[in-house]
Amino acid sequence: MTKRIYNFSAGPAVLPEEVLKEAQENLFSLPGAGMSILEISHRSKTFDKIIAEAKADLKSLLGISNDYELLFLQGGASLQFSMVPLNLMPPKNKADYIVTGSWSKKAVKEAKRVGIVNIAASTEGENFKRIPKQEELKLDPDAAYVHFTSNNTIYGTEWHKELEAGNVPLVCDASSDILHKKIDINKYALIYAGAQKNMGPSGVTFIIIRKDMVERSLDSLHTMLNYKTHVENNSLYNTPTTFGIYIISLVAKWIKKLGGLDAMYKINKEKADILYKCIDDSGGYYKGHAEKDSRSLMNITFNLTTEELEKKLISEATAAGFDGLKGHRSVGGLRASIYNAFPKKGVEDLVSFMKDFQKKNG
Ligand SMILES: *Cc1c(COP(=O)(O)O)cnc(C)c1O
Repeated sequence: MTKRIYNFSAGPAVLPEEVLKEAQENLFSLPGAGMSILEISHRSKTFDKIIAEAKADLKSLLGISNDYELLFLQGGASLQFSMVPLNLMPPKNKADYIVTGSWSKKAVKEAKRVGIVNIAASTEGENFKRIPKQEELKLDPDAAYVHFTSNNTIYGTEWHKELEAGNVPLVCDASSDILHKKIDINKYALIYAGAQKNMGPSGVTFIIIRKDMVERSLDSLHTMLNYKTHVENNSLYNTPTTFGIYIISLVAKWIKKLGGLDAMYKINKEKADILYKCIDDSGGYYKGHAEKDSRSLMNITFNLTTEELEKKLISEATAAGFDGLKGHRSVGGLRASIYNAFPKKGVEDLVSFMKDFQKKNG
């Protein structure tokens, strides 16, 4: 089967077709290297160039200054739930966490093993349908850092403005919305993202860390869990995911070619608007999970009036070539993940399908 279907999966997720084609073309023999990216040494000149270009392109896309280091690690965003507190908590032994979904809760669970966690806000009581307002945050000015999740992959909510953390270092899990728009990196002390949602394949975690944060890591930490190890070794202390970093470098070039992150955001906004409009214009047939001002541009979560209808829609949609629409079990319903690489045509086709379904089953 060579035909591609629409992949609405939350992650691993759709990648740009151009990137897949280029990778395919070069998989047998990388130009100039005479061997596959799957075979080359991570200590080779060829790979040095790939990792350097990936870093340079991500730096320019995101406007990252020389005050920051970029890392490509393993263990997923989930390992960062541990590495962040292990490395950054020691000076104060306490940190603020804002809980806006399942991933934030998992981050809290690991931080509690290291030190004192203050829940600065939580919207769990409202089934995480919104992002808390700045006034609701009970921030501790003496915390080691403030941690938040910029996009809640499962619930389909997103921060549209960074929270104000004062002088406290801001740490962000941006796994599912990194690179979807330009952000002010200078507001952050550390950003981490599992690559498999919006950057590349699974197996790589991208980290942006401000240099003064690296100073916090104690030498008593396990070598592999210490940010300093990875900074000092350019993410090559041990064997990295060479293929994943290569794909990330191609994705970064693809975004640059599109016109950078402002152009990317414009497309993302258009795509999400099309789908939200369909939901809003359905007269309550489709009901969005997230409150309007907290809506994610990446993961669009919605329900129908009954579970039977939801099941019917998912099964008919799957048969029609729309894959991965089933919502996470904690929210139920449907979730359309429409990351950077998801084509606008796919959103338009889904909307036609949904309108048609409503007509037939209204
Ligand atoms: C998927 C996801 C994670 C977990 O990522 P892994 O790479 O599987 O560990 C963490 N946070 C957010 C926001 C996610 O979407």
